[in-house]
Amino acid sequence: MNIVLFGAPGSGKGSQATRINKKYNLPHISTGDLFRENINNNTPLGVIAKEFINRGELVPDEPVFEILKNRLALPDCKNGYVLDGFPRNLAQAIELEKISKIDAVIFIDVSMSEIEIRAINRKICPTCGKIYSMVERYTQVCDDCGSDLIQREDDKIDVVRNRIKTYLSQSEPLIKYYRDRKILKTVLSGNSADETFVEVDKILSNLSKKSRN
Ligand SMILES: [Zn+2]
Repeated sequence: MNIVLFGAPGSGKGSQATRINKKYNLPHISTGDLFRENINNNTPLGVIAKEFINRGELVPDEPVFEILKNRLALPDCKNGYVLDGFPRNLAQAIELEKISKIDAVIFIDVSMSEIEIRAINRKICPTCGKIYSMVERYTQVCDDCGSDLIQREDDKIDVVRNRIKTYLSQSEPLIKYYRDRKILKTVLSGNSADETFVEVDKILSNLSKKSRN
């Protein structure tokens, strides 16, 4: 099963991908993580990506495809994968179809105000990378390693708003494209990631039944 998780930045695609990975054993491929890896390792691609991400802009297609193609060619993608954060626009979707067949696009539908609230309340441990929601959290240090939590550059409100604006302008044609291909599955975001996963799970178990028959 080749799955695309689609939704606004901050809609919780990563949490769903983690759950899908656990239950269906499909690798979670996040272009965001691939970028962060490249940025942390200071690769030439990472240097380019960093400039765009820090401005709240999207990294151009060419380097994105380069790293993605390499990633999808690895043996763990043989039985499928979950793509998180890609494609973001119609041009990328058309290009993606040339390198891989997509079985389903799960669209996590969530309001933009909810996304802003989540971003403002999100902090990350700079040492181990663990992500925290600061809603109802009273300590500012990491449970696992004791480091002081920080706000990610790309969770700052202006950056978030800029990113949402870009997302909205590109998402409509993409949603239509996948709807026309009859592979779009819309899931309303629940109150928690577990709640949302109940719906995601239904879709995937139907799909995997179909693919076995
Ligand atoms: Zn930590």
